[in-house]
Amino acid sequence: MTMLSVESVSKRYGDVLALDDVSLNFPQGCITAIIGPSGCGKSTLLKLCNGLVKPDVGKVTVFGRPLDYGNLPPLRRRLGYAVQGIGLFPHLTAGENITLLASLEHWPQAAIEQRLGELLELTHLREDQLTRYPHQLSGGQQQRVGLCRTMMMRPEVLLLDEPFAAIDSITRMDIHQQLLKLHEAEPSTALLVTHDIREALQLAEHIVVMISGRVVCSDSKSTLLEHRAGRDPELLLQSLMAGEGE
Ligand code: ADP
Repeated sequence: MTMLSVESVSKRYGDVLALDDVSLNFPQGCITAIIGPSGCGKSTLLKLCNGLVKPDVGKVTVFGRPLDYGNLPPLRRRLGYAVQGIGLFPHLTAGENITLLASLEHWPQAAIEQRLGELLELTHLREDQLTRYPHQLSGGQQQRVGLCRTMMMRPEVLLLDEPFAAIDSITRMDIHQQLLKLHEAEPSTALLVTHDIREALQLAEHIVVMISGRVVCSDSKSTLLEHRAGRDPELLLQSLMAGEGE
């Protein structure tokens, strides 16, 4: 089954061709990093995958089926979507933020608590931090709460749009470790939009490079590392992102 793919999709905003005939089949159970300069279409590609944006032409397949734009809520419940800036609800405590969707879905209290316990352990959040409001937490703690909220429903597809861009590099390294741990425990088909080559190489098994709405490279990290031996992967990706080809 194709978990997540886009086929010959294009999307235009006025004069801007945000996506230009993009076809990608995202490997199931893997983290795929989508990197490229600002404005190259990364976020638009992610928004296509949860139906926030509809392509002018082309097909989006999620969970093995063409996306049904008339009935998005059931799909969105199975997708985790996290954007830069976290977007925690300020009037809810950390715990309420994390468990909100599960409560709305009428999960039994025991199931909510069990899942919450698993997530706290994986992300090193403490019980006492759950009763605090977002403004009473550090940026890194808020990020972890955001990660827990995204993972609460055990999404099979995870869409992450520069979720770590706004935090300092030491906290970011720590959160990277937690994301990798979470992914190992519960492998989802994850797309991670980033403009940070190191982040892409550290977290992803598959790497897509985009420029001006087009895909210029889509390779597994091991292929990038093996078949282009002798080239520093960071420099290679940098040159691809700059549009210099290989
Ligand atoms: P990236 O995530 O790589 O920075 P985006 O996907 O956000 O790029 O945007 C790609 C291009 O499409 C940019 O030129 C951006 O200005 C344009 N764009 C994105 N969304 C909209 C929109 N809602 N209306 C008009 N232009 C948009």
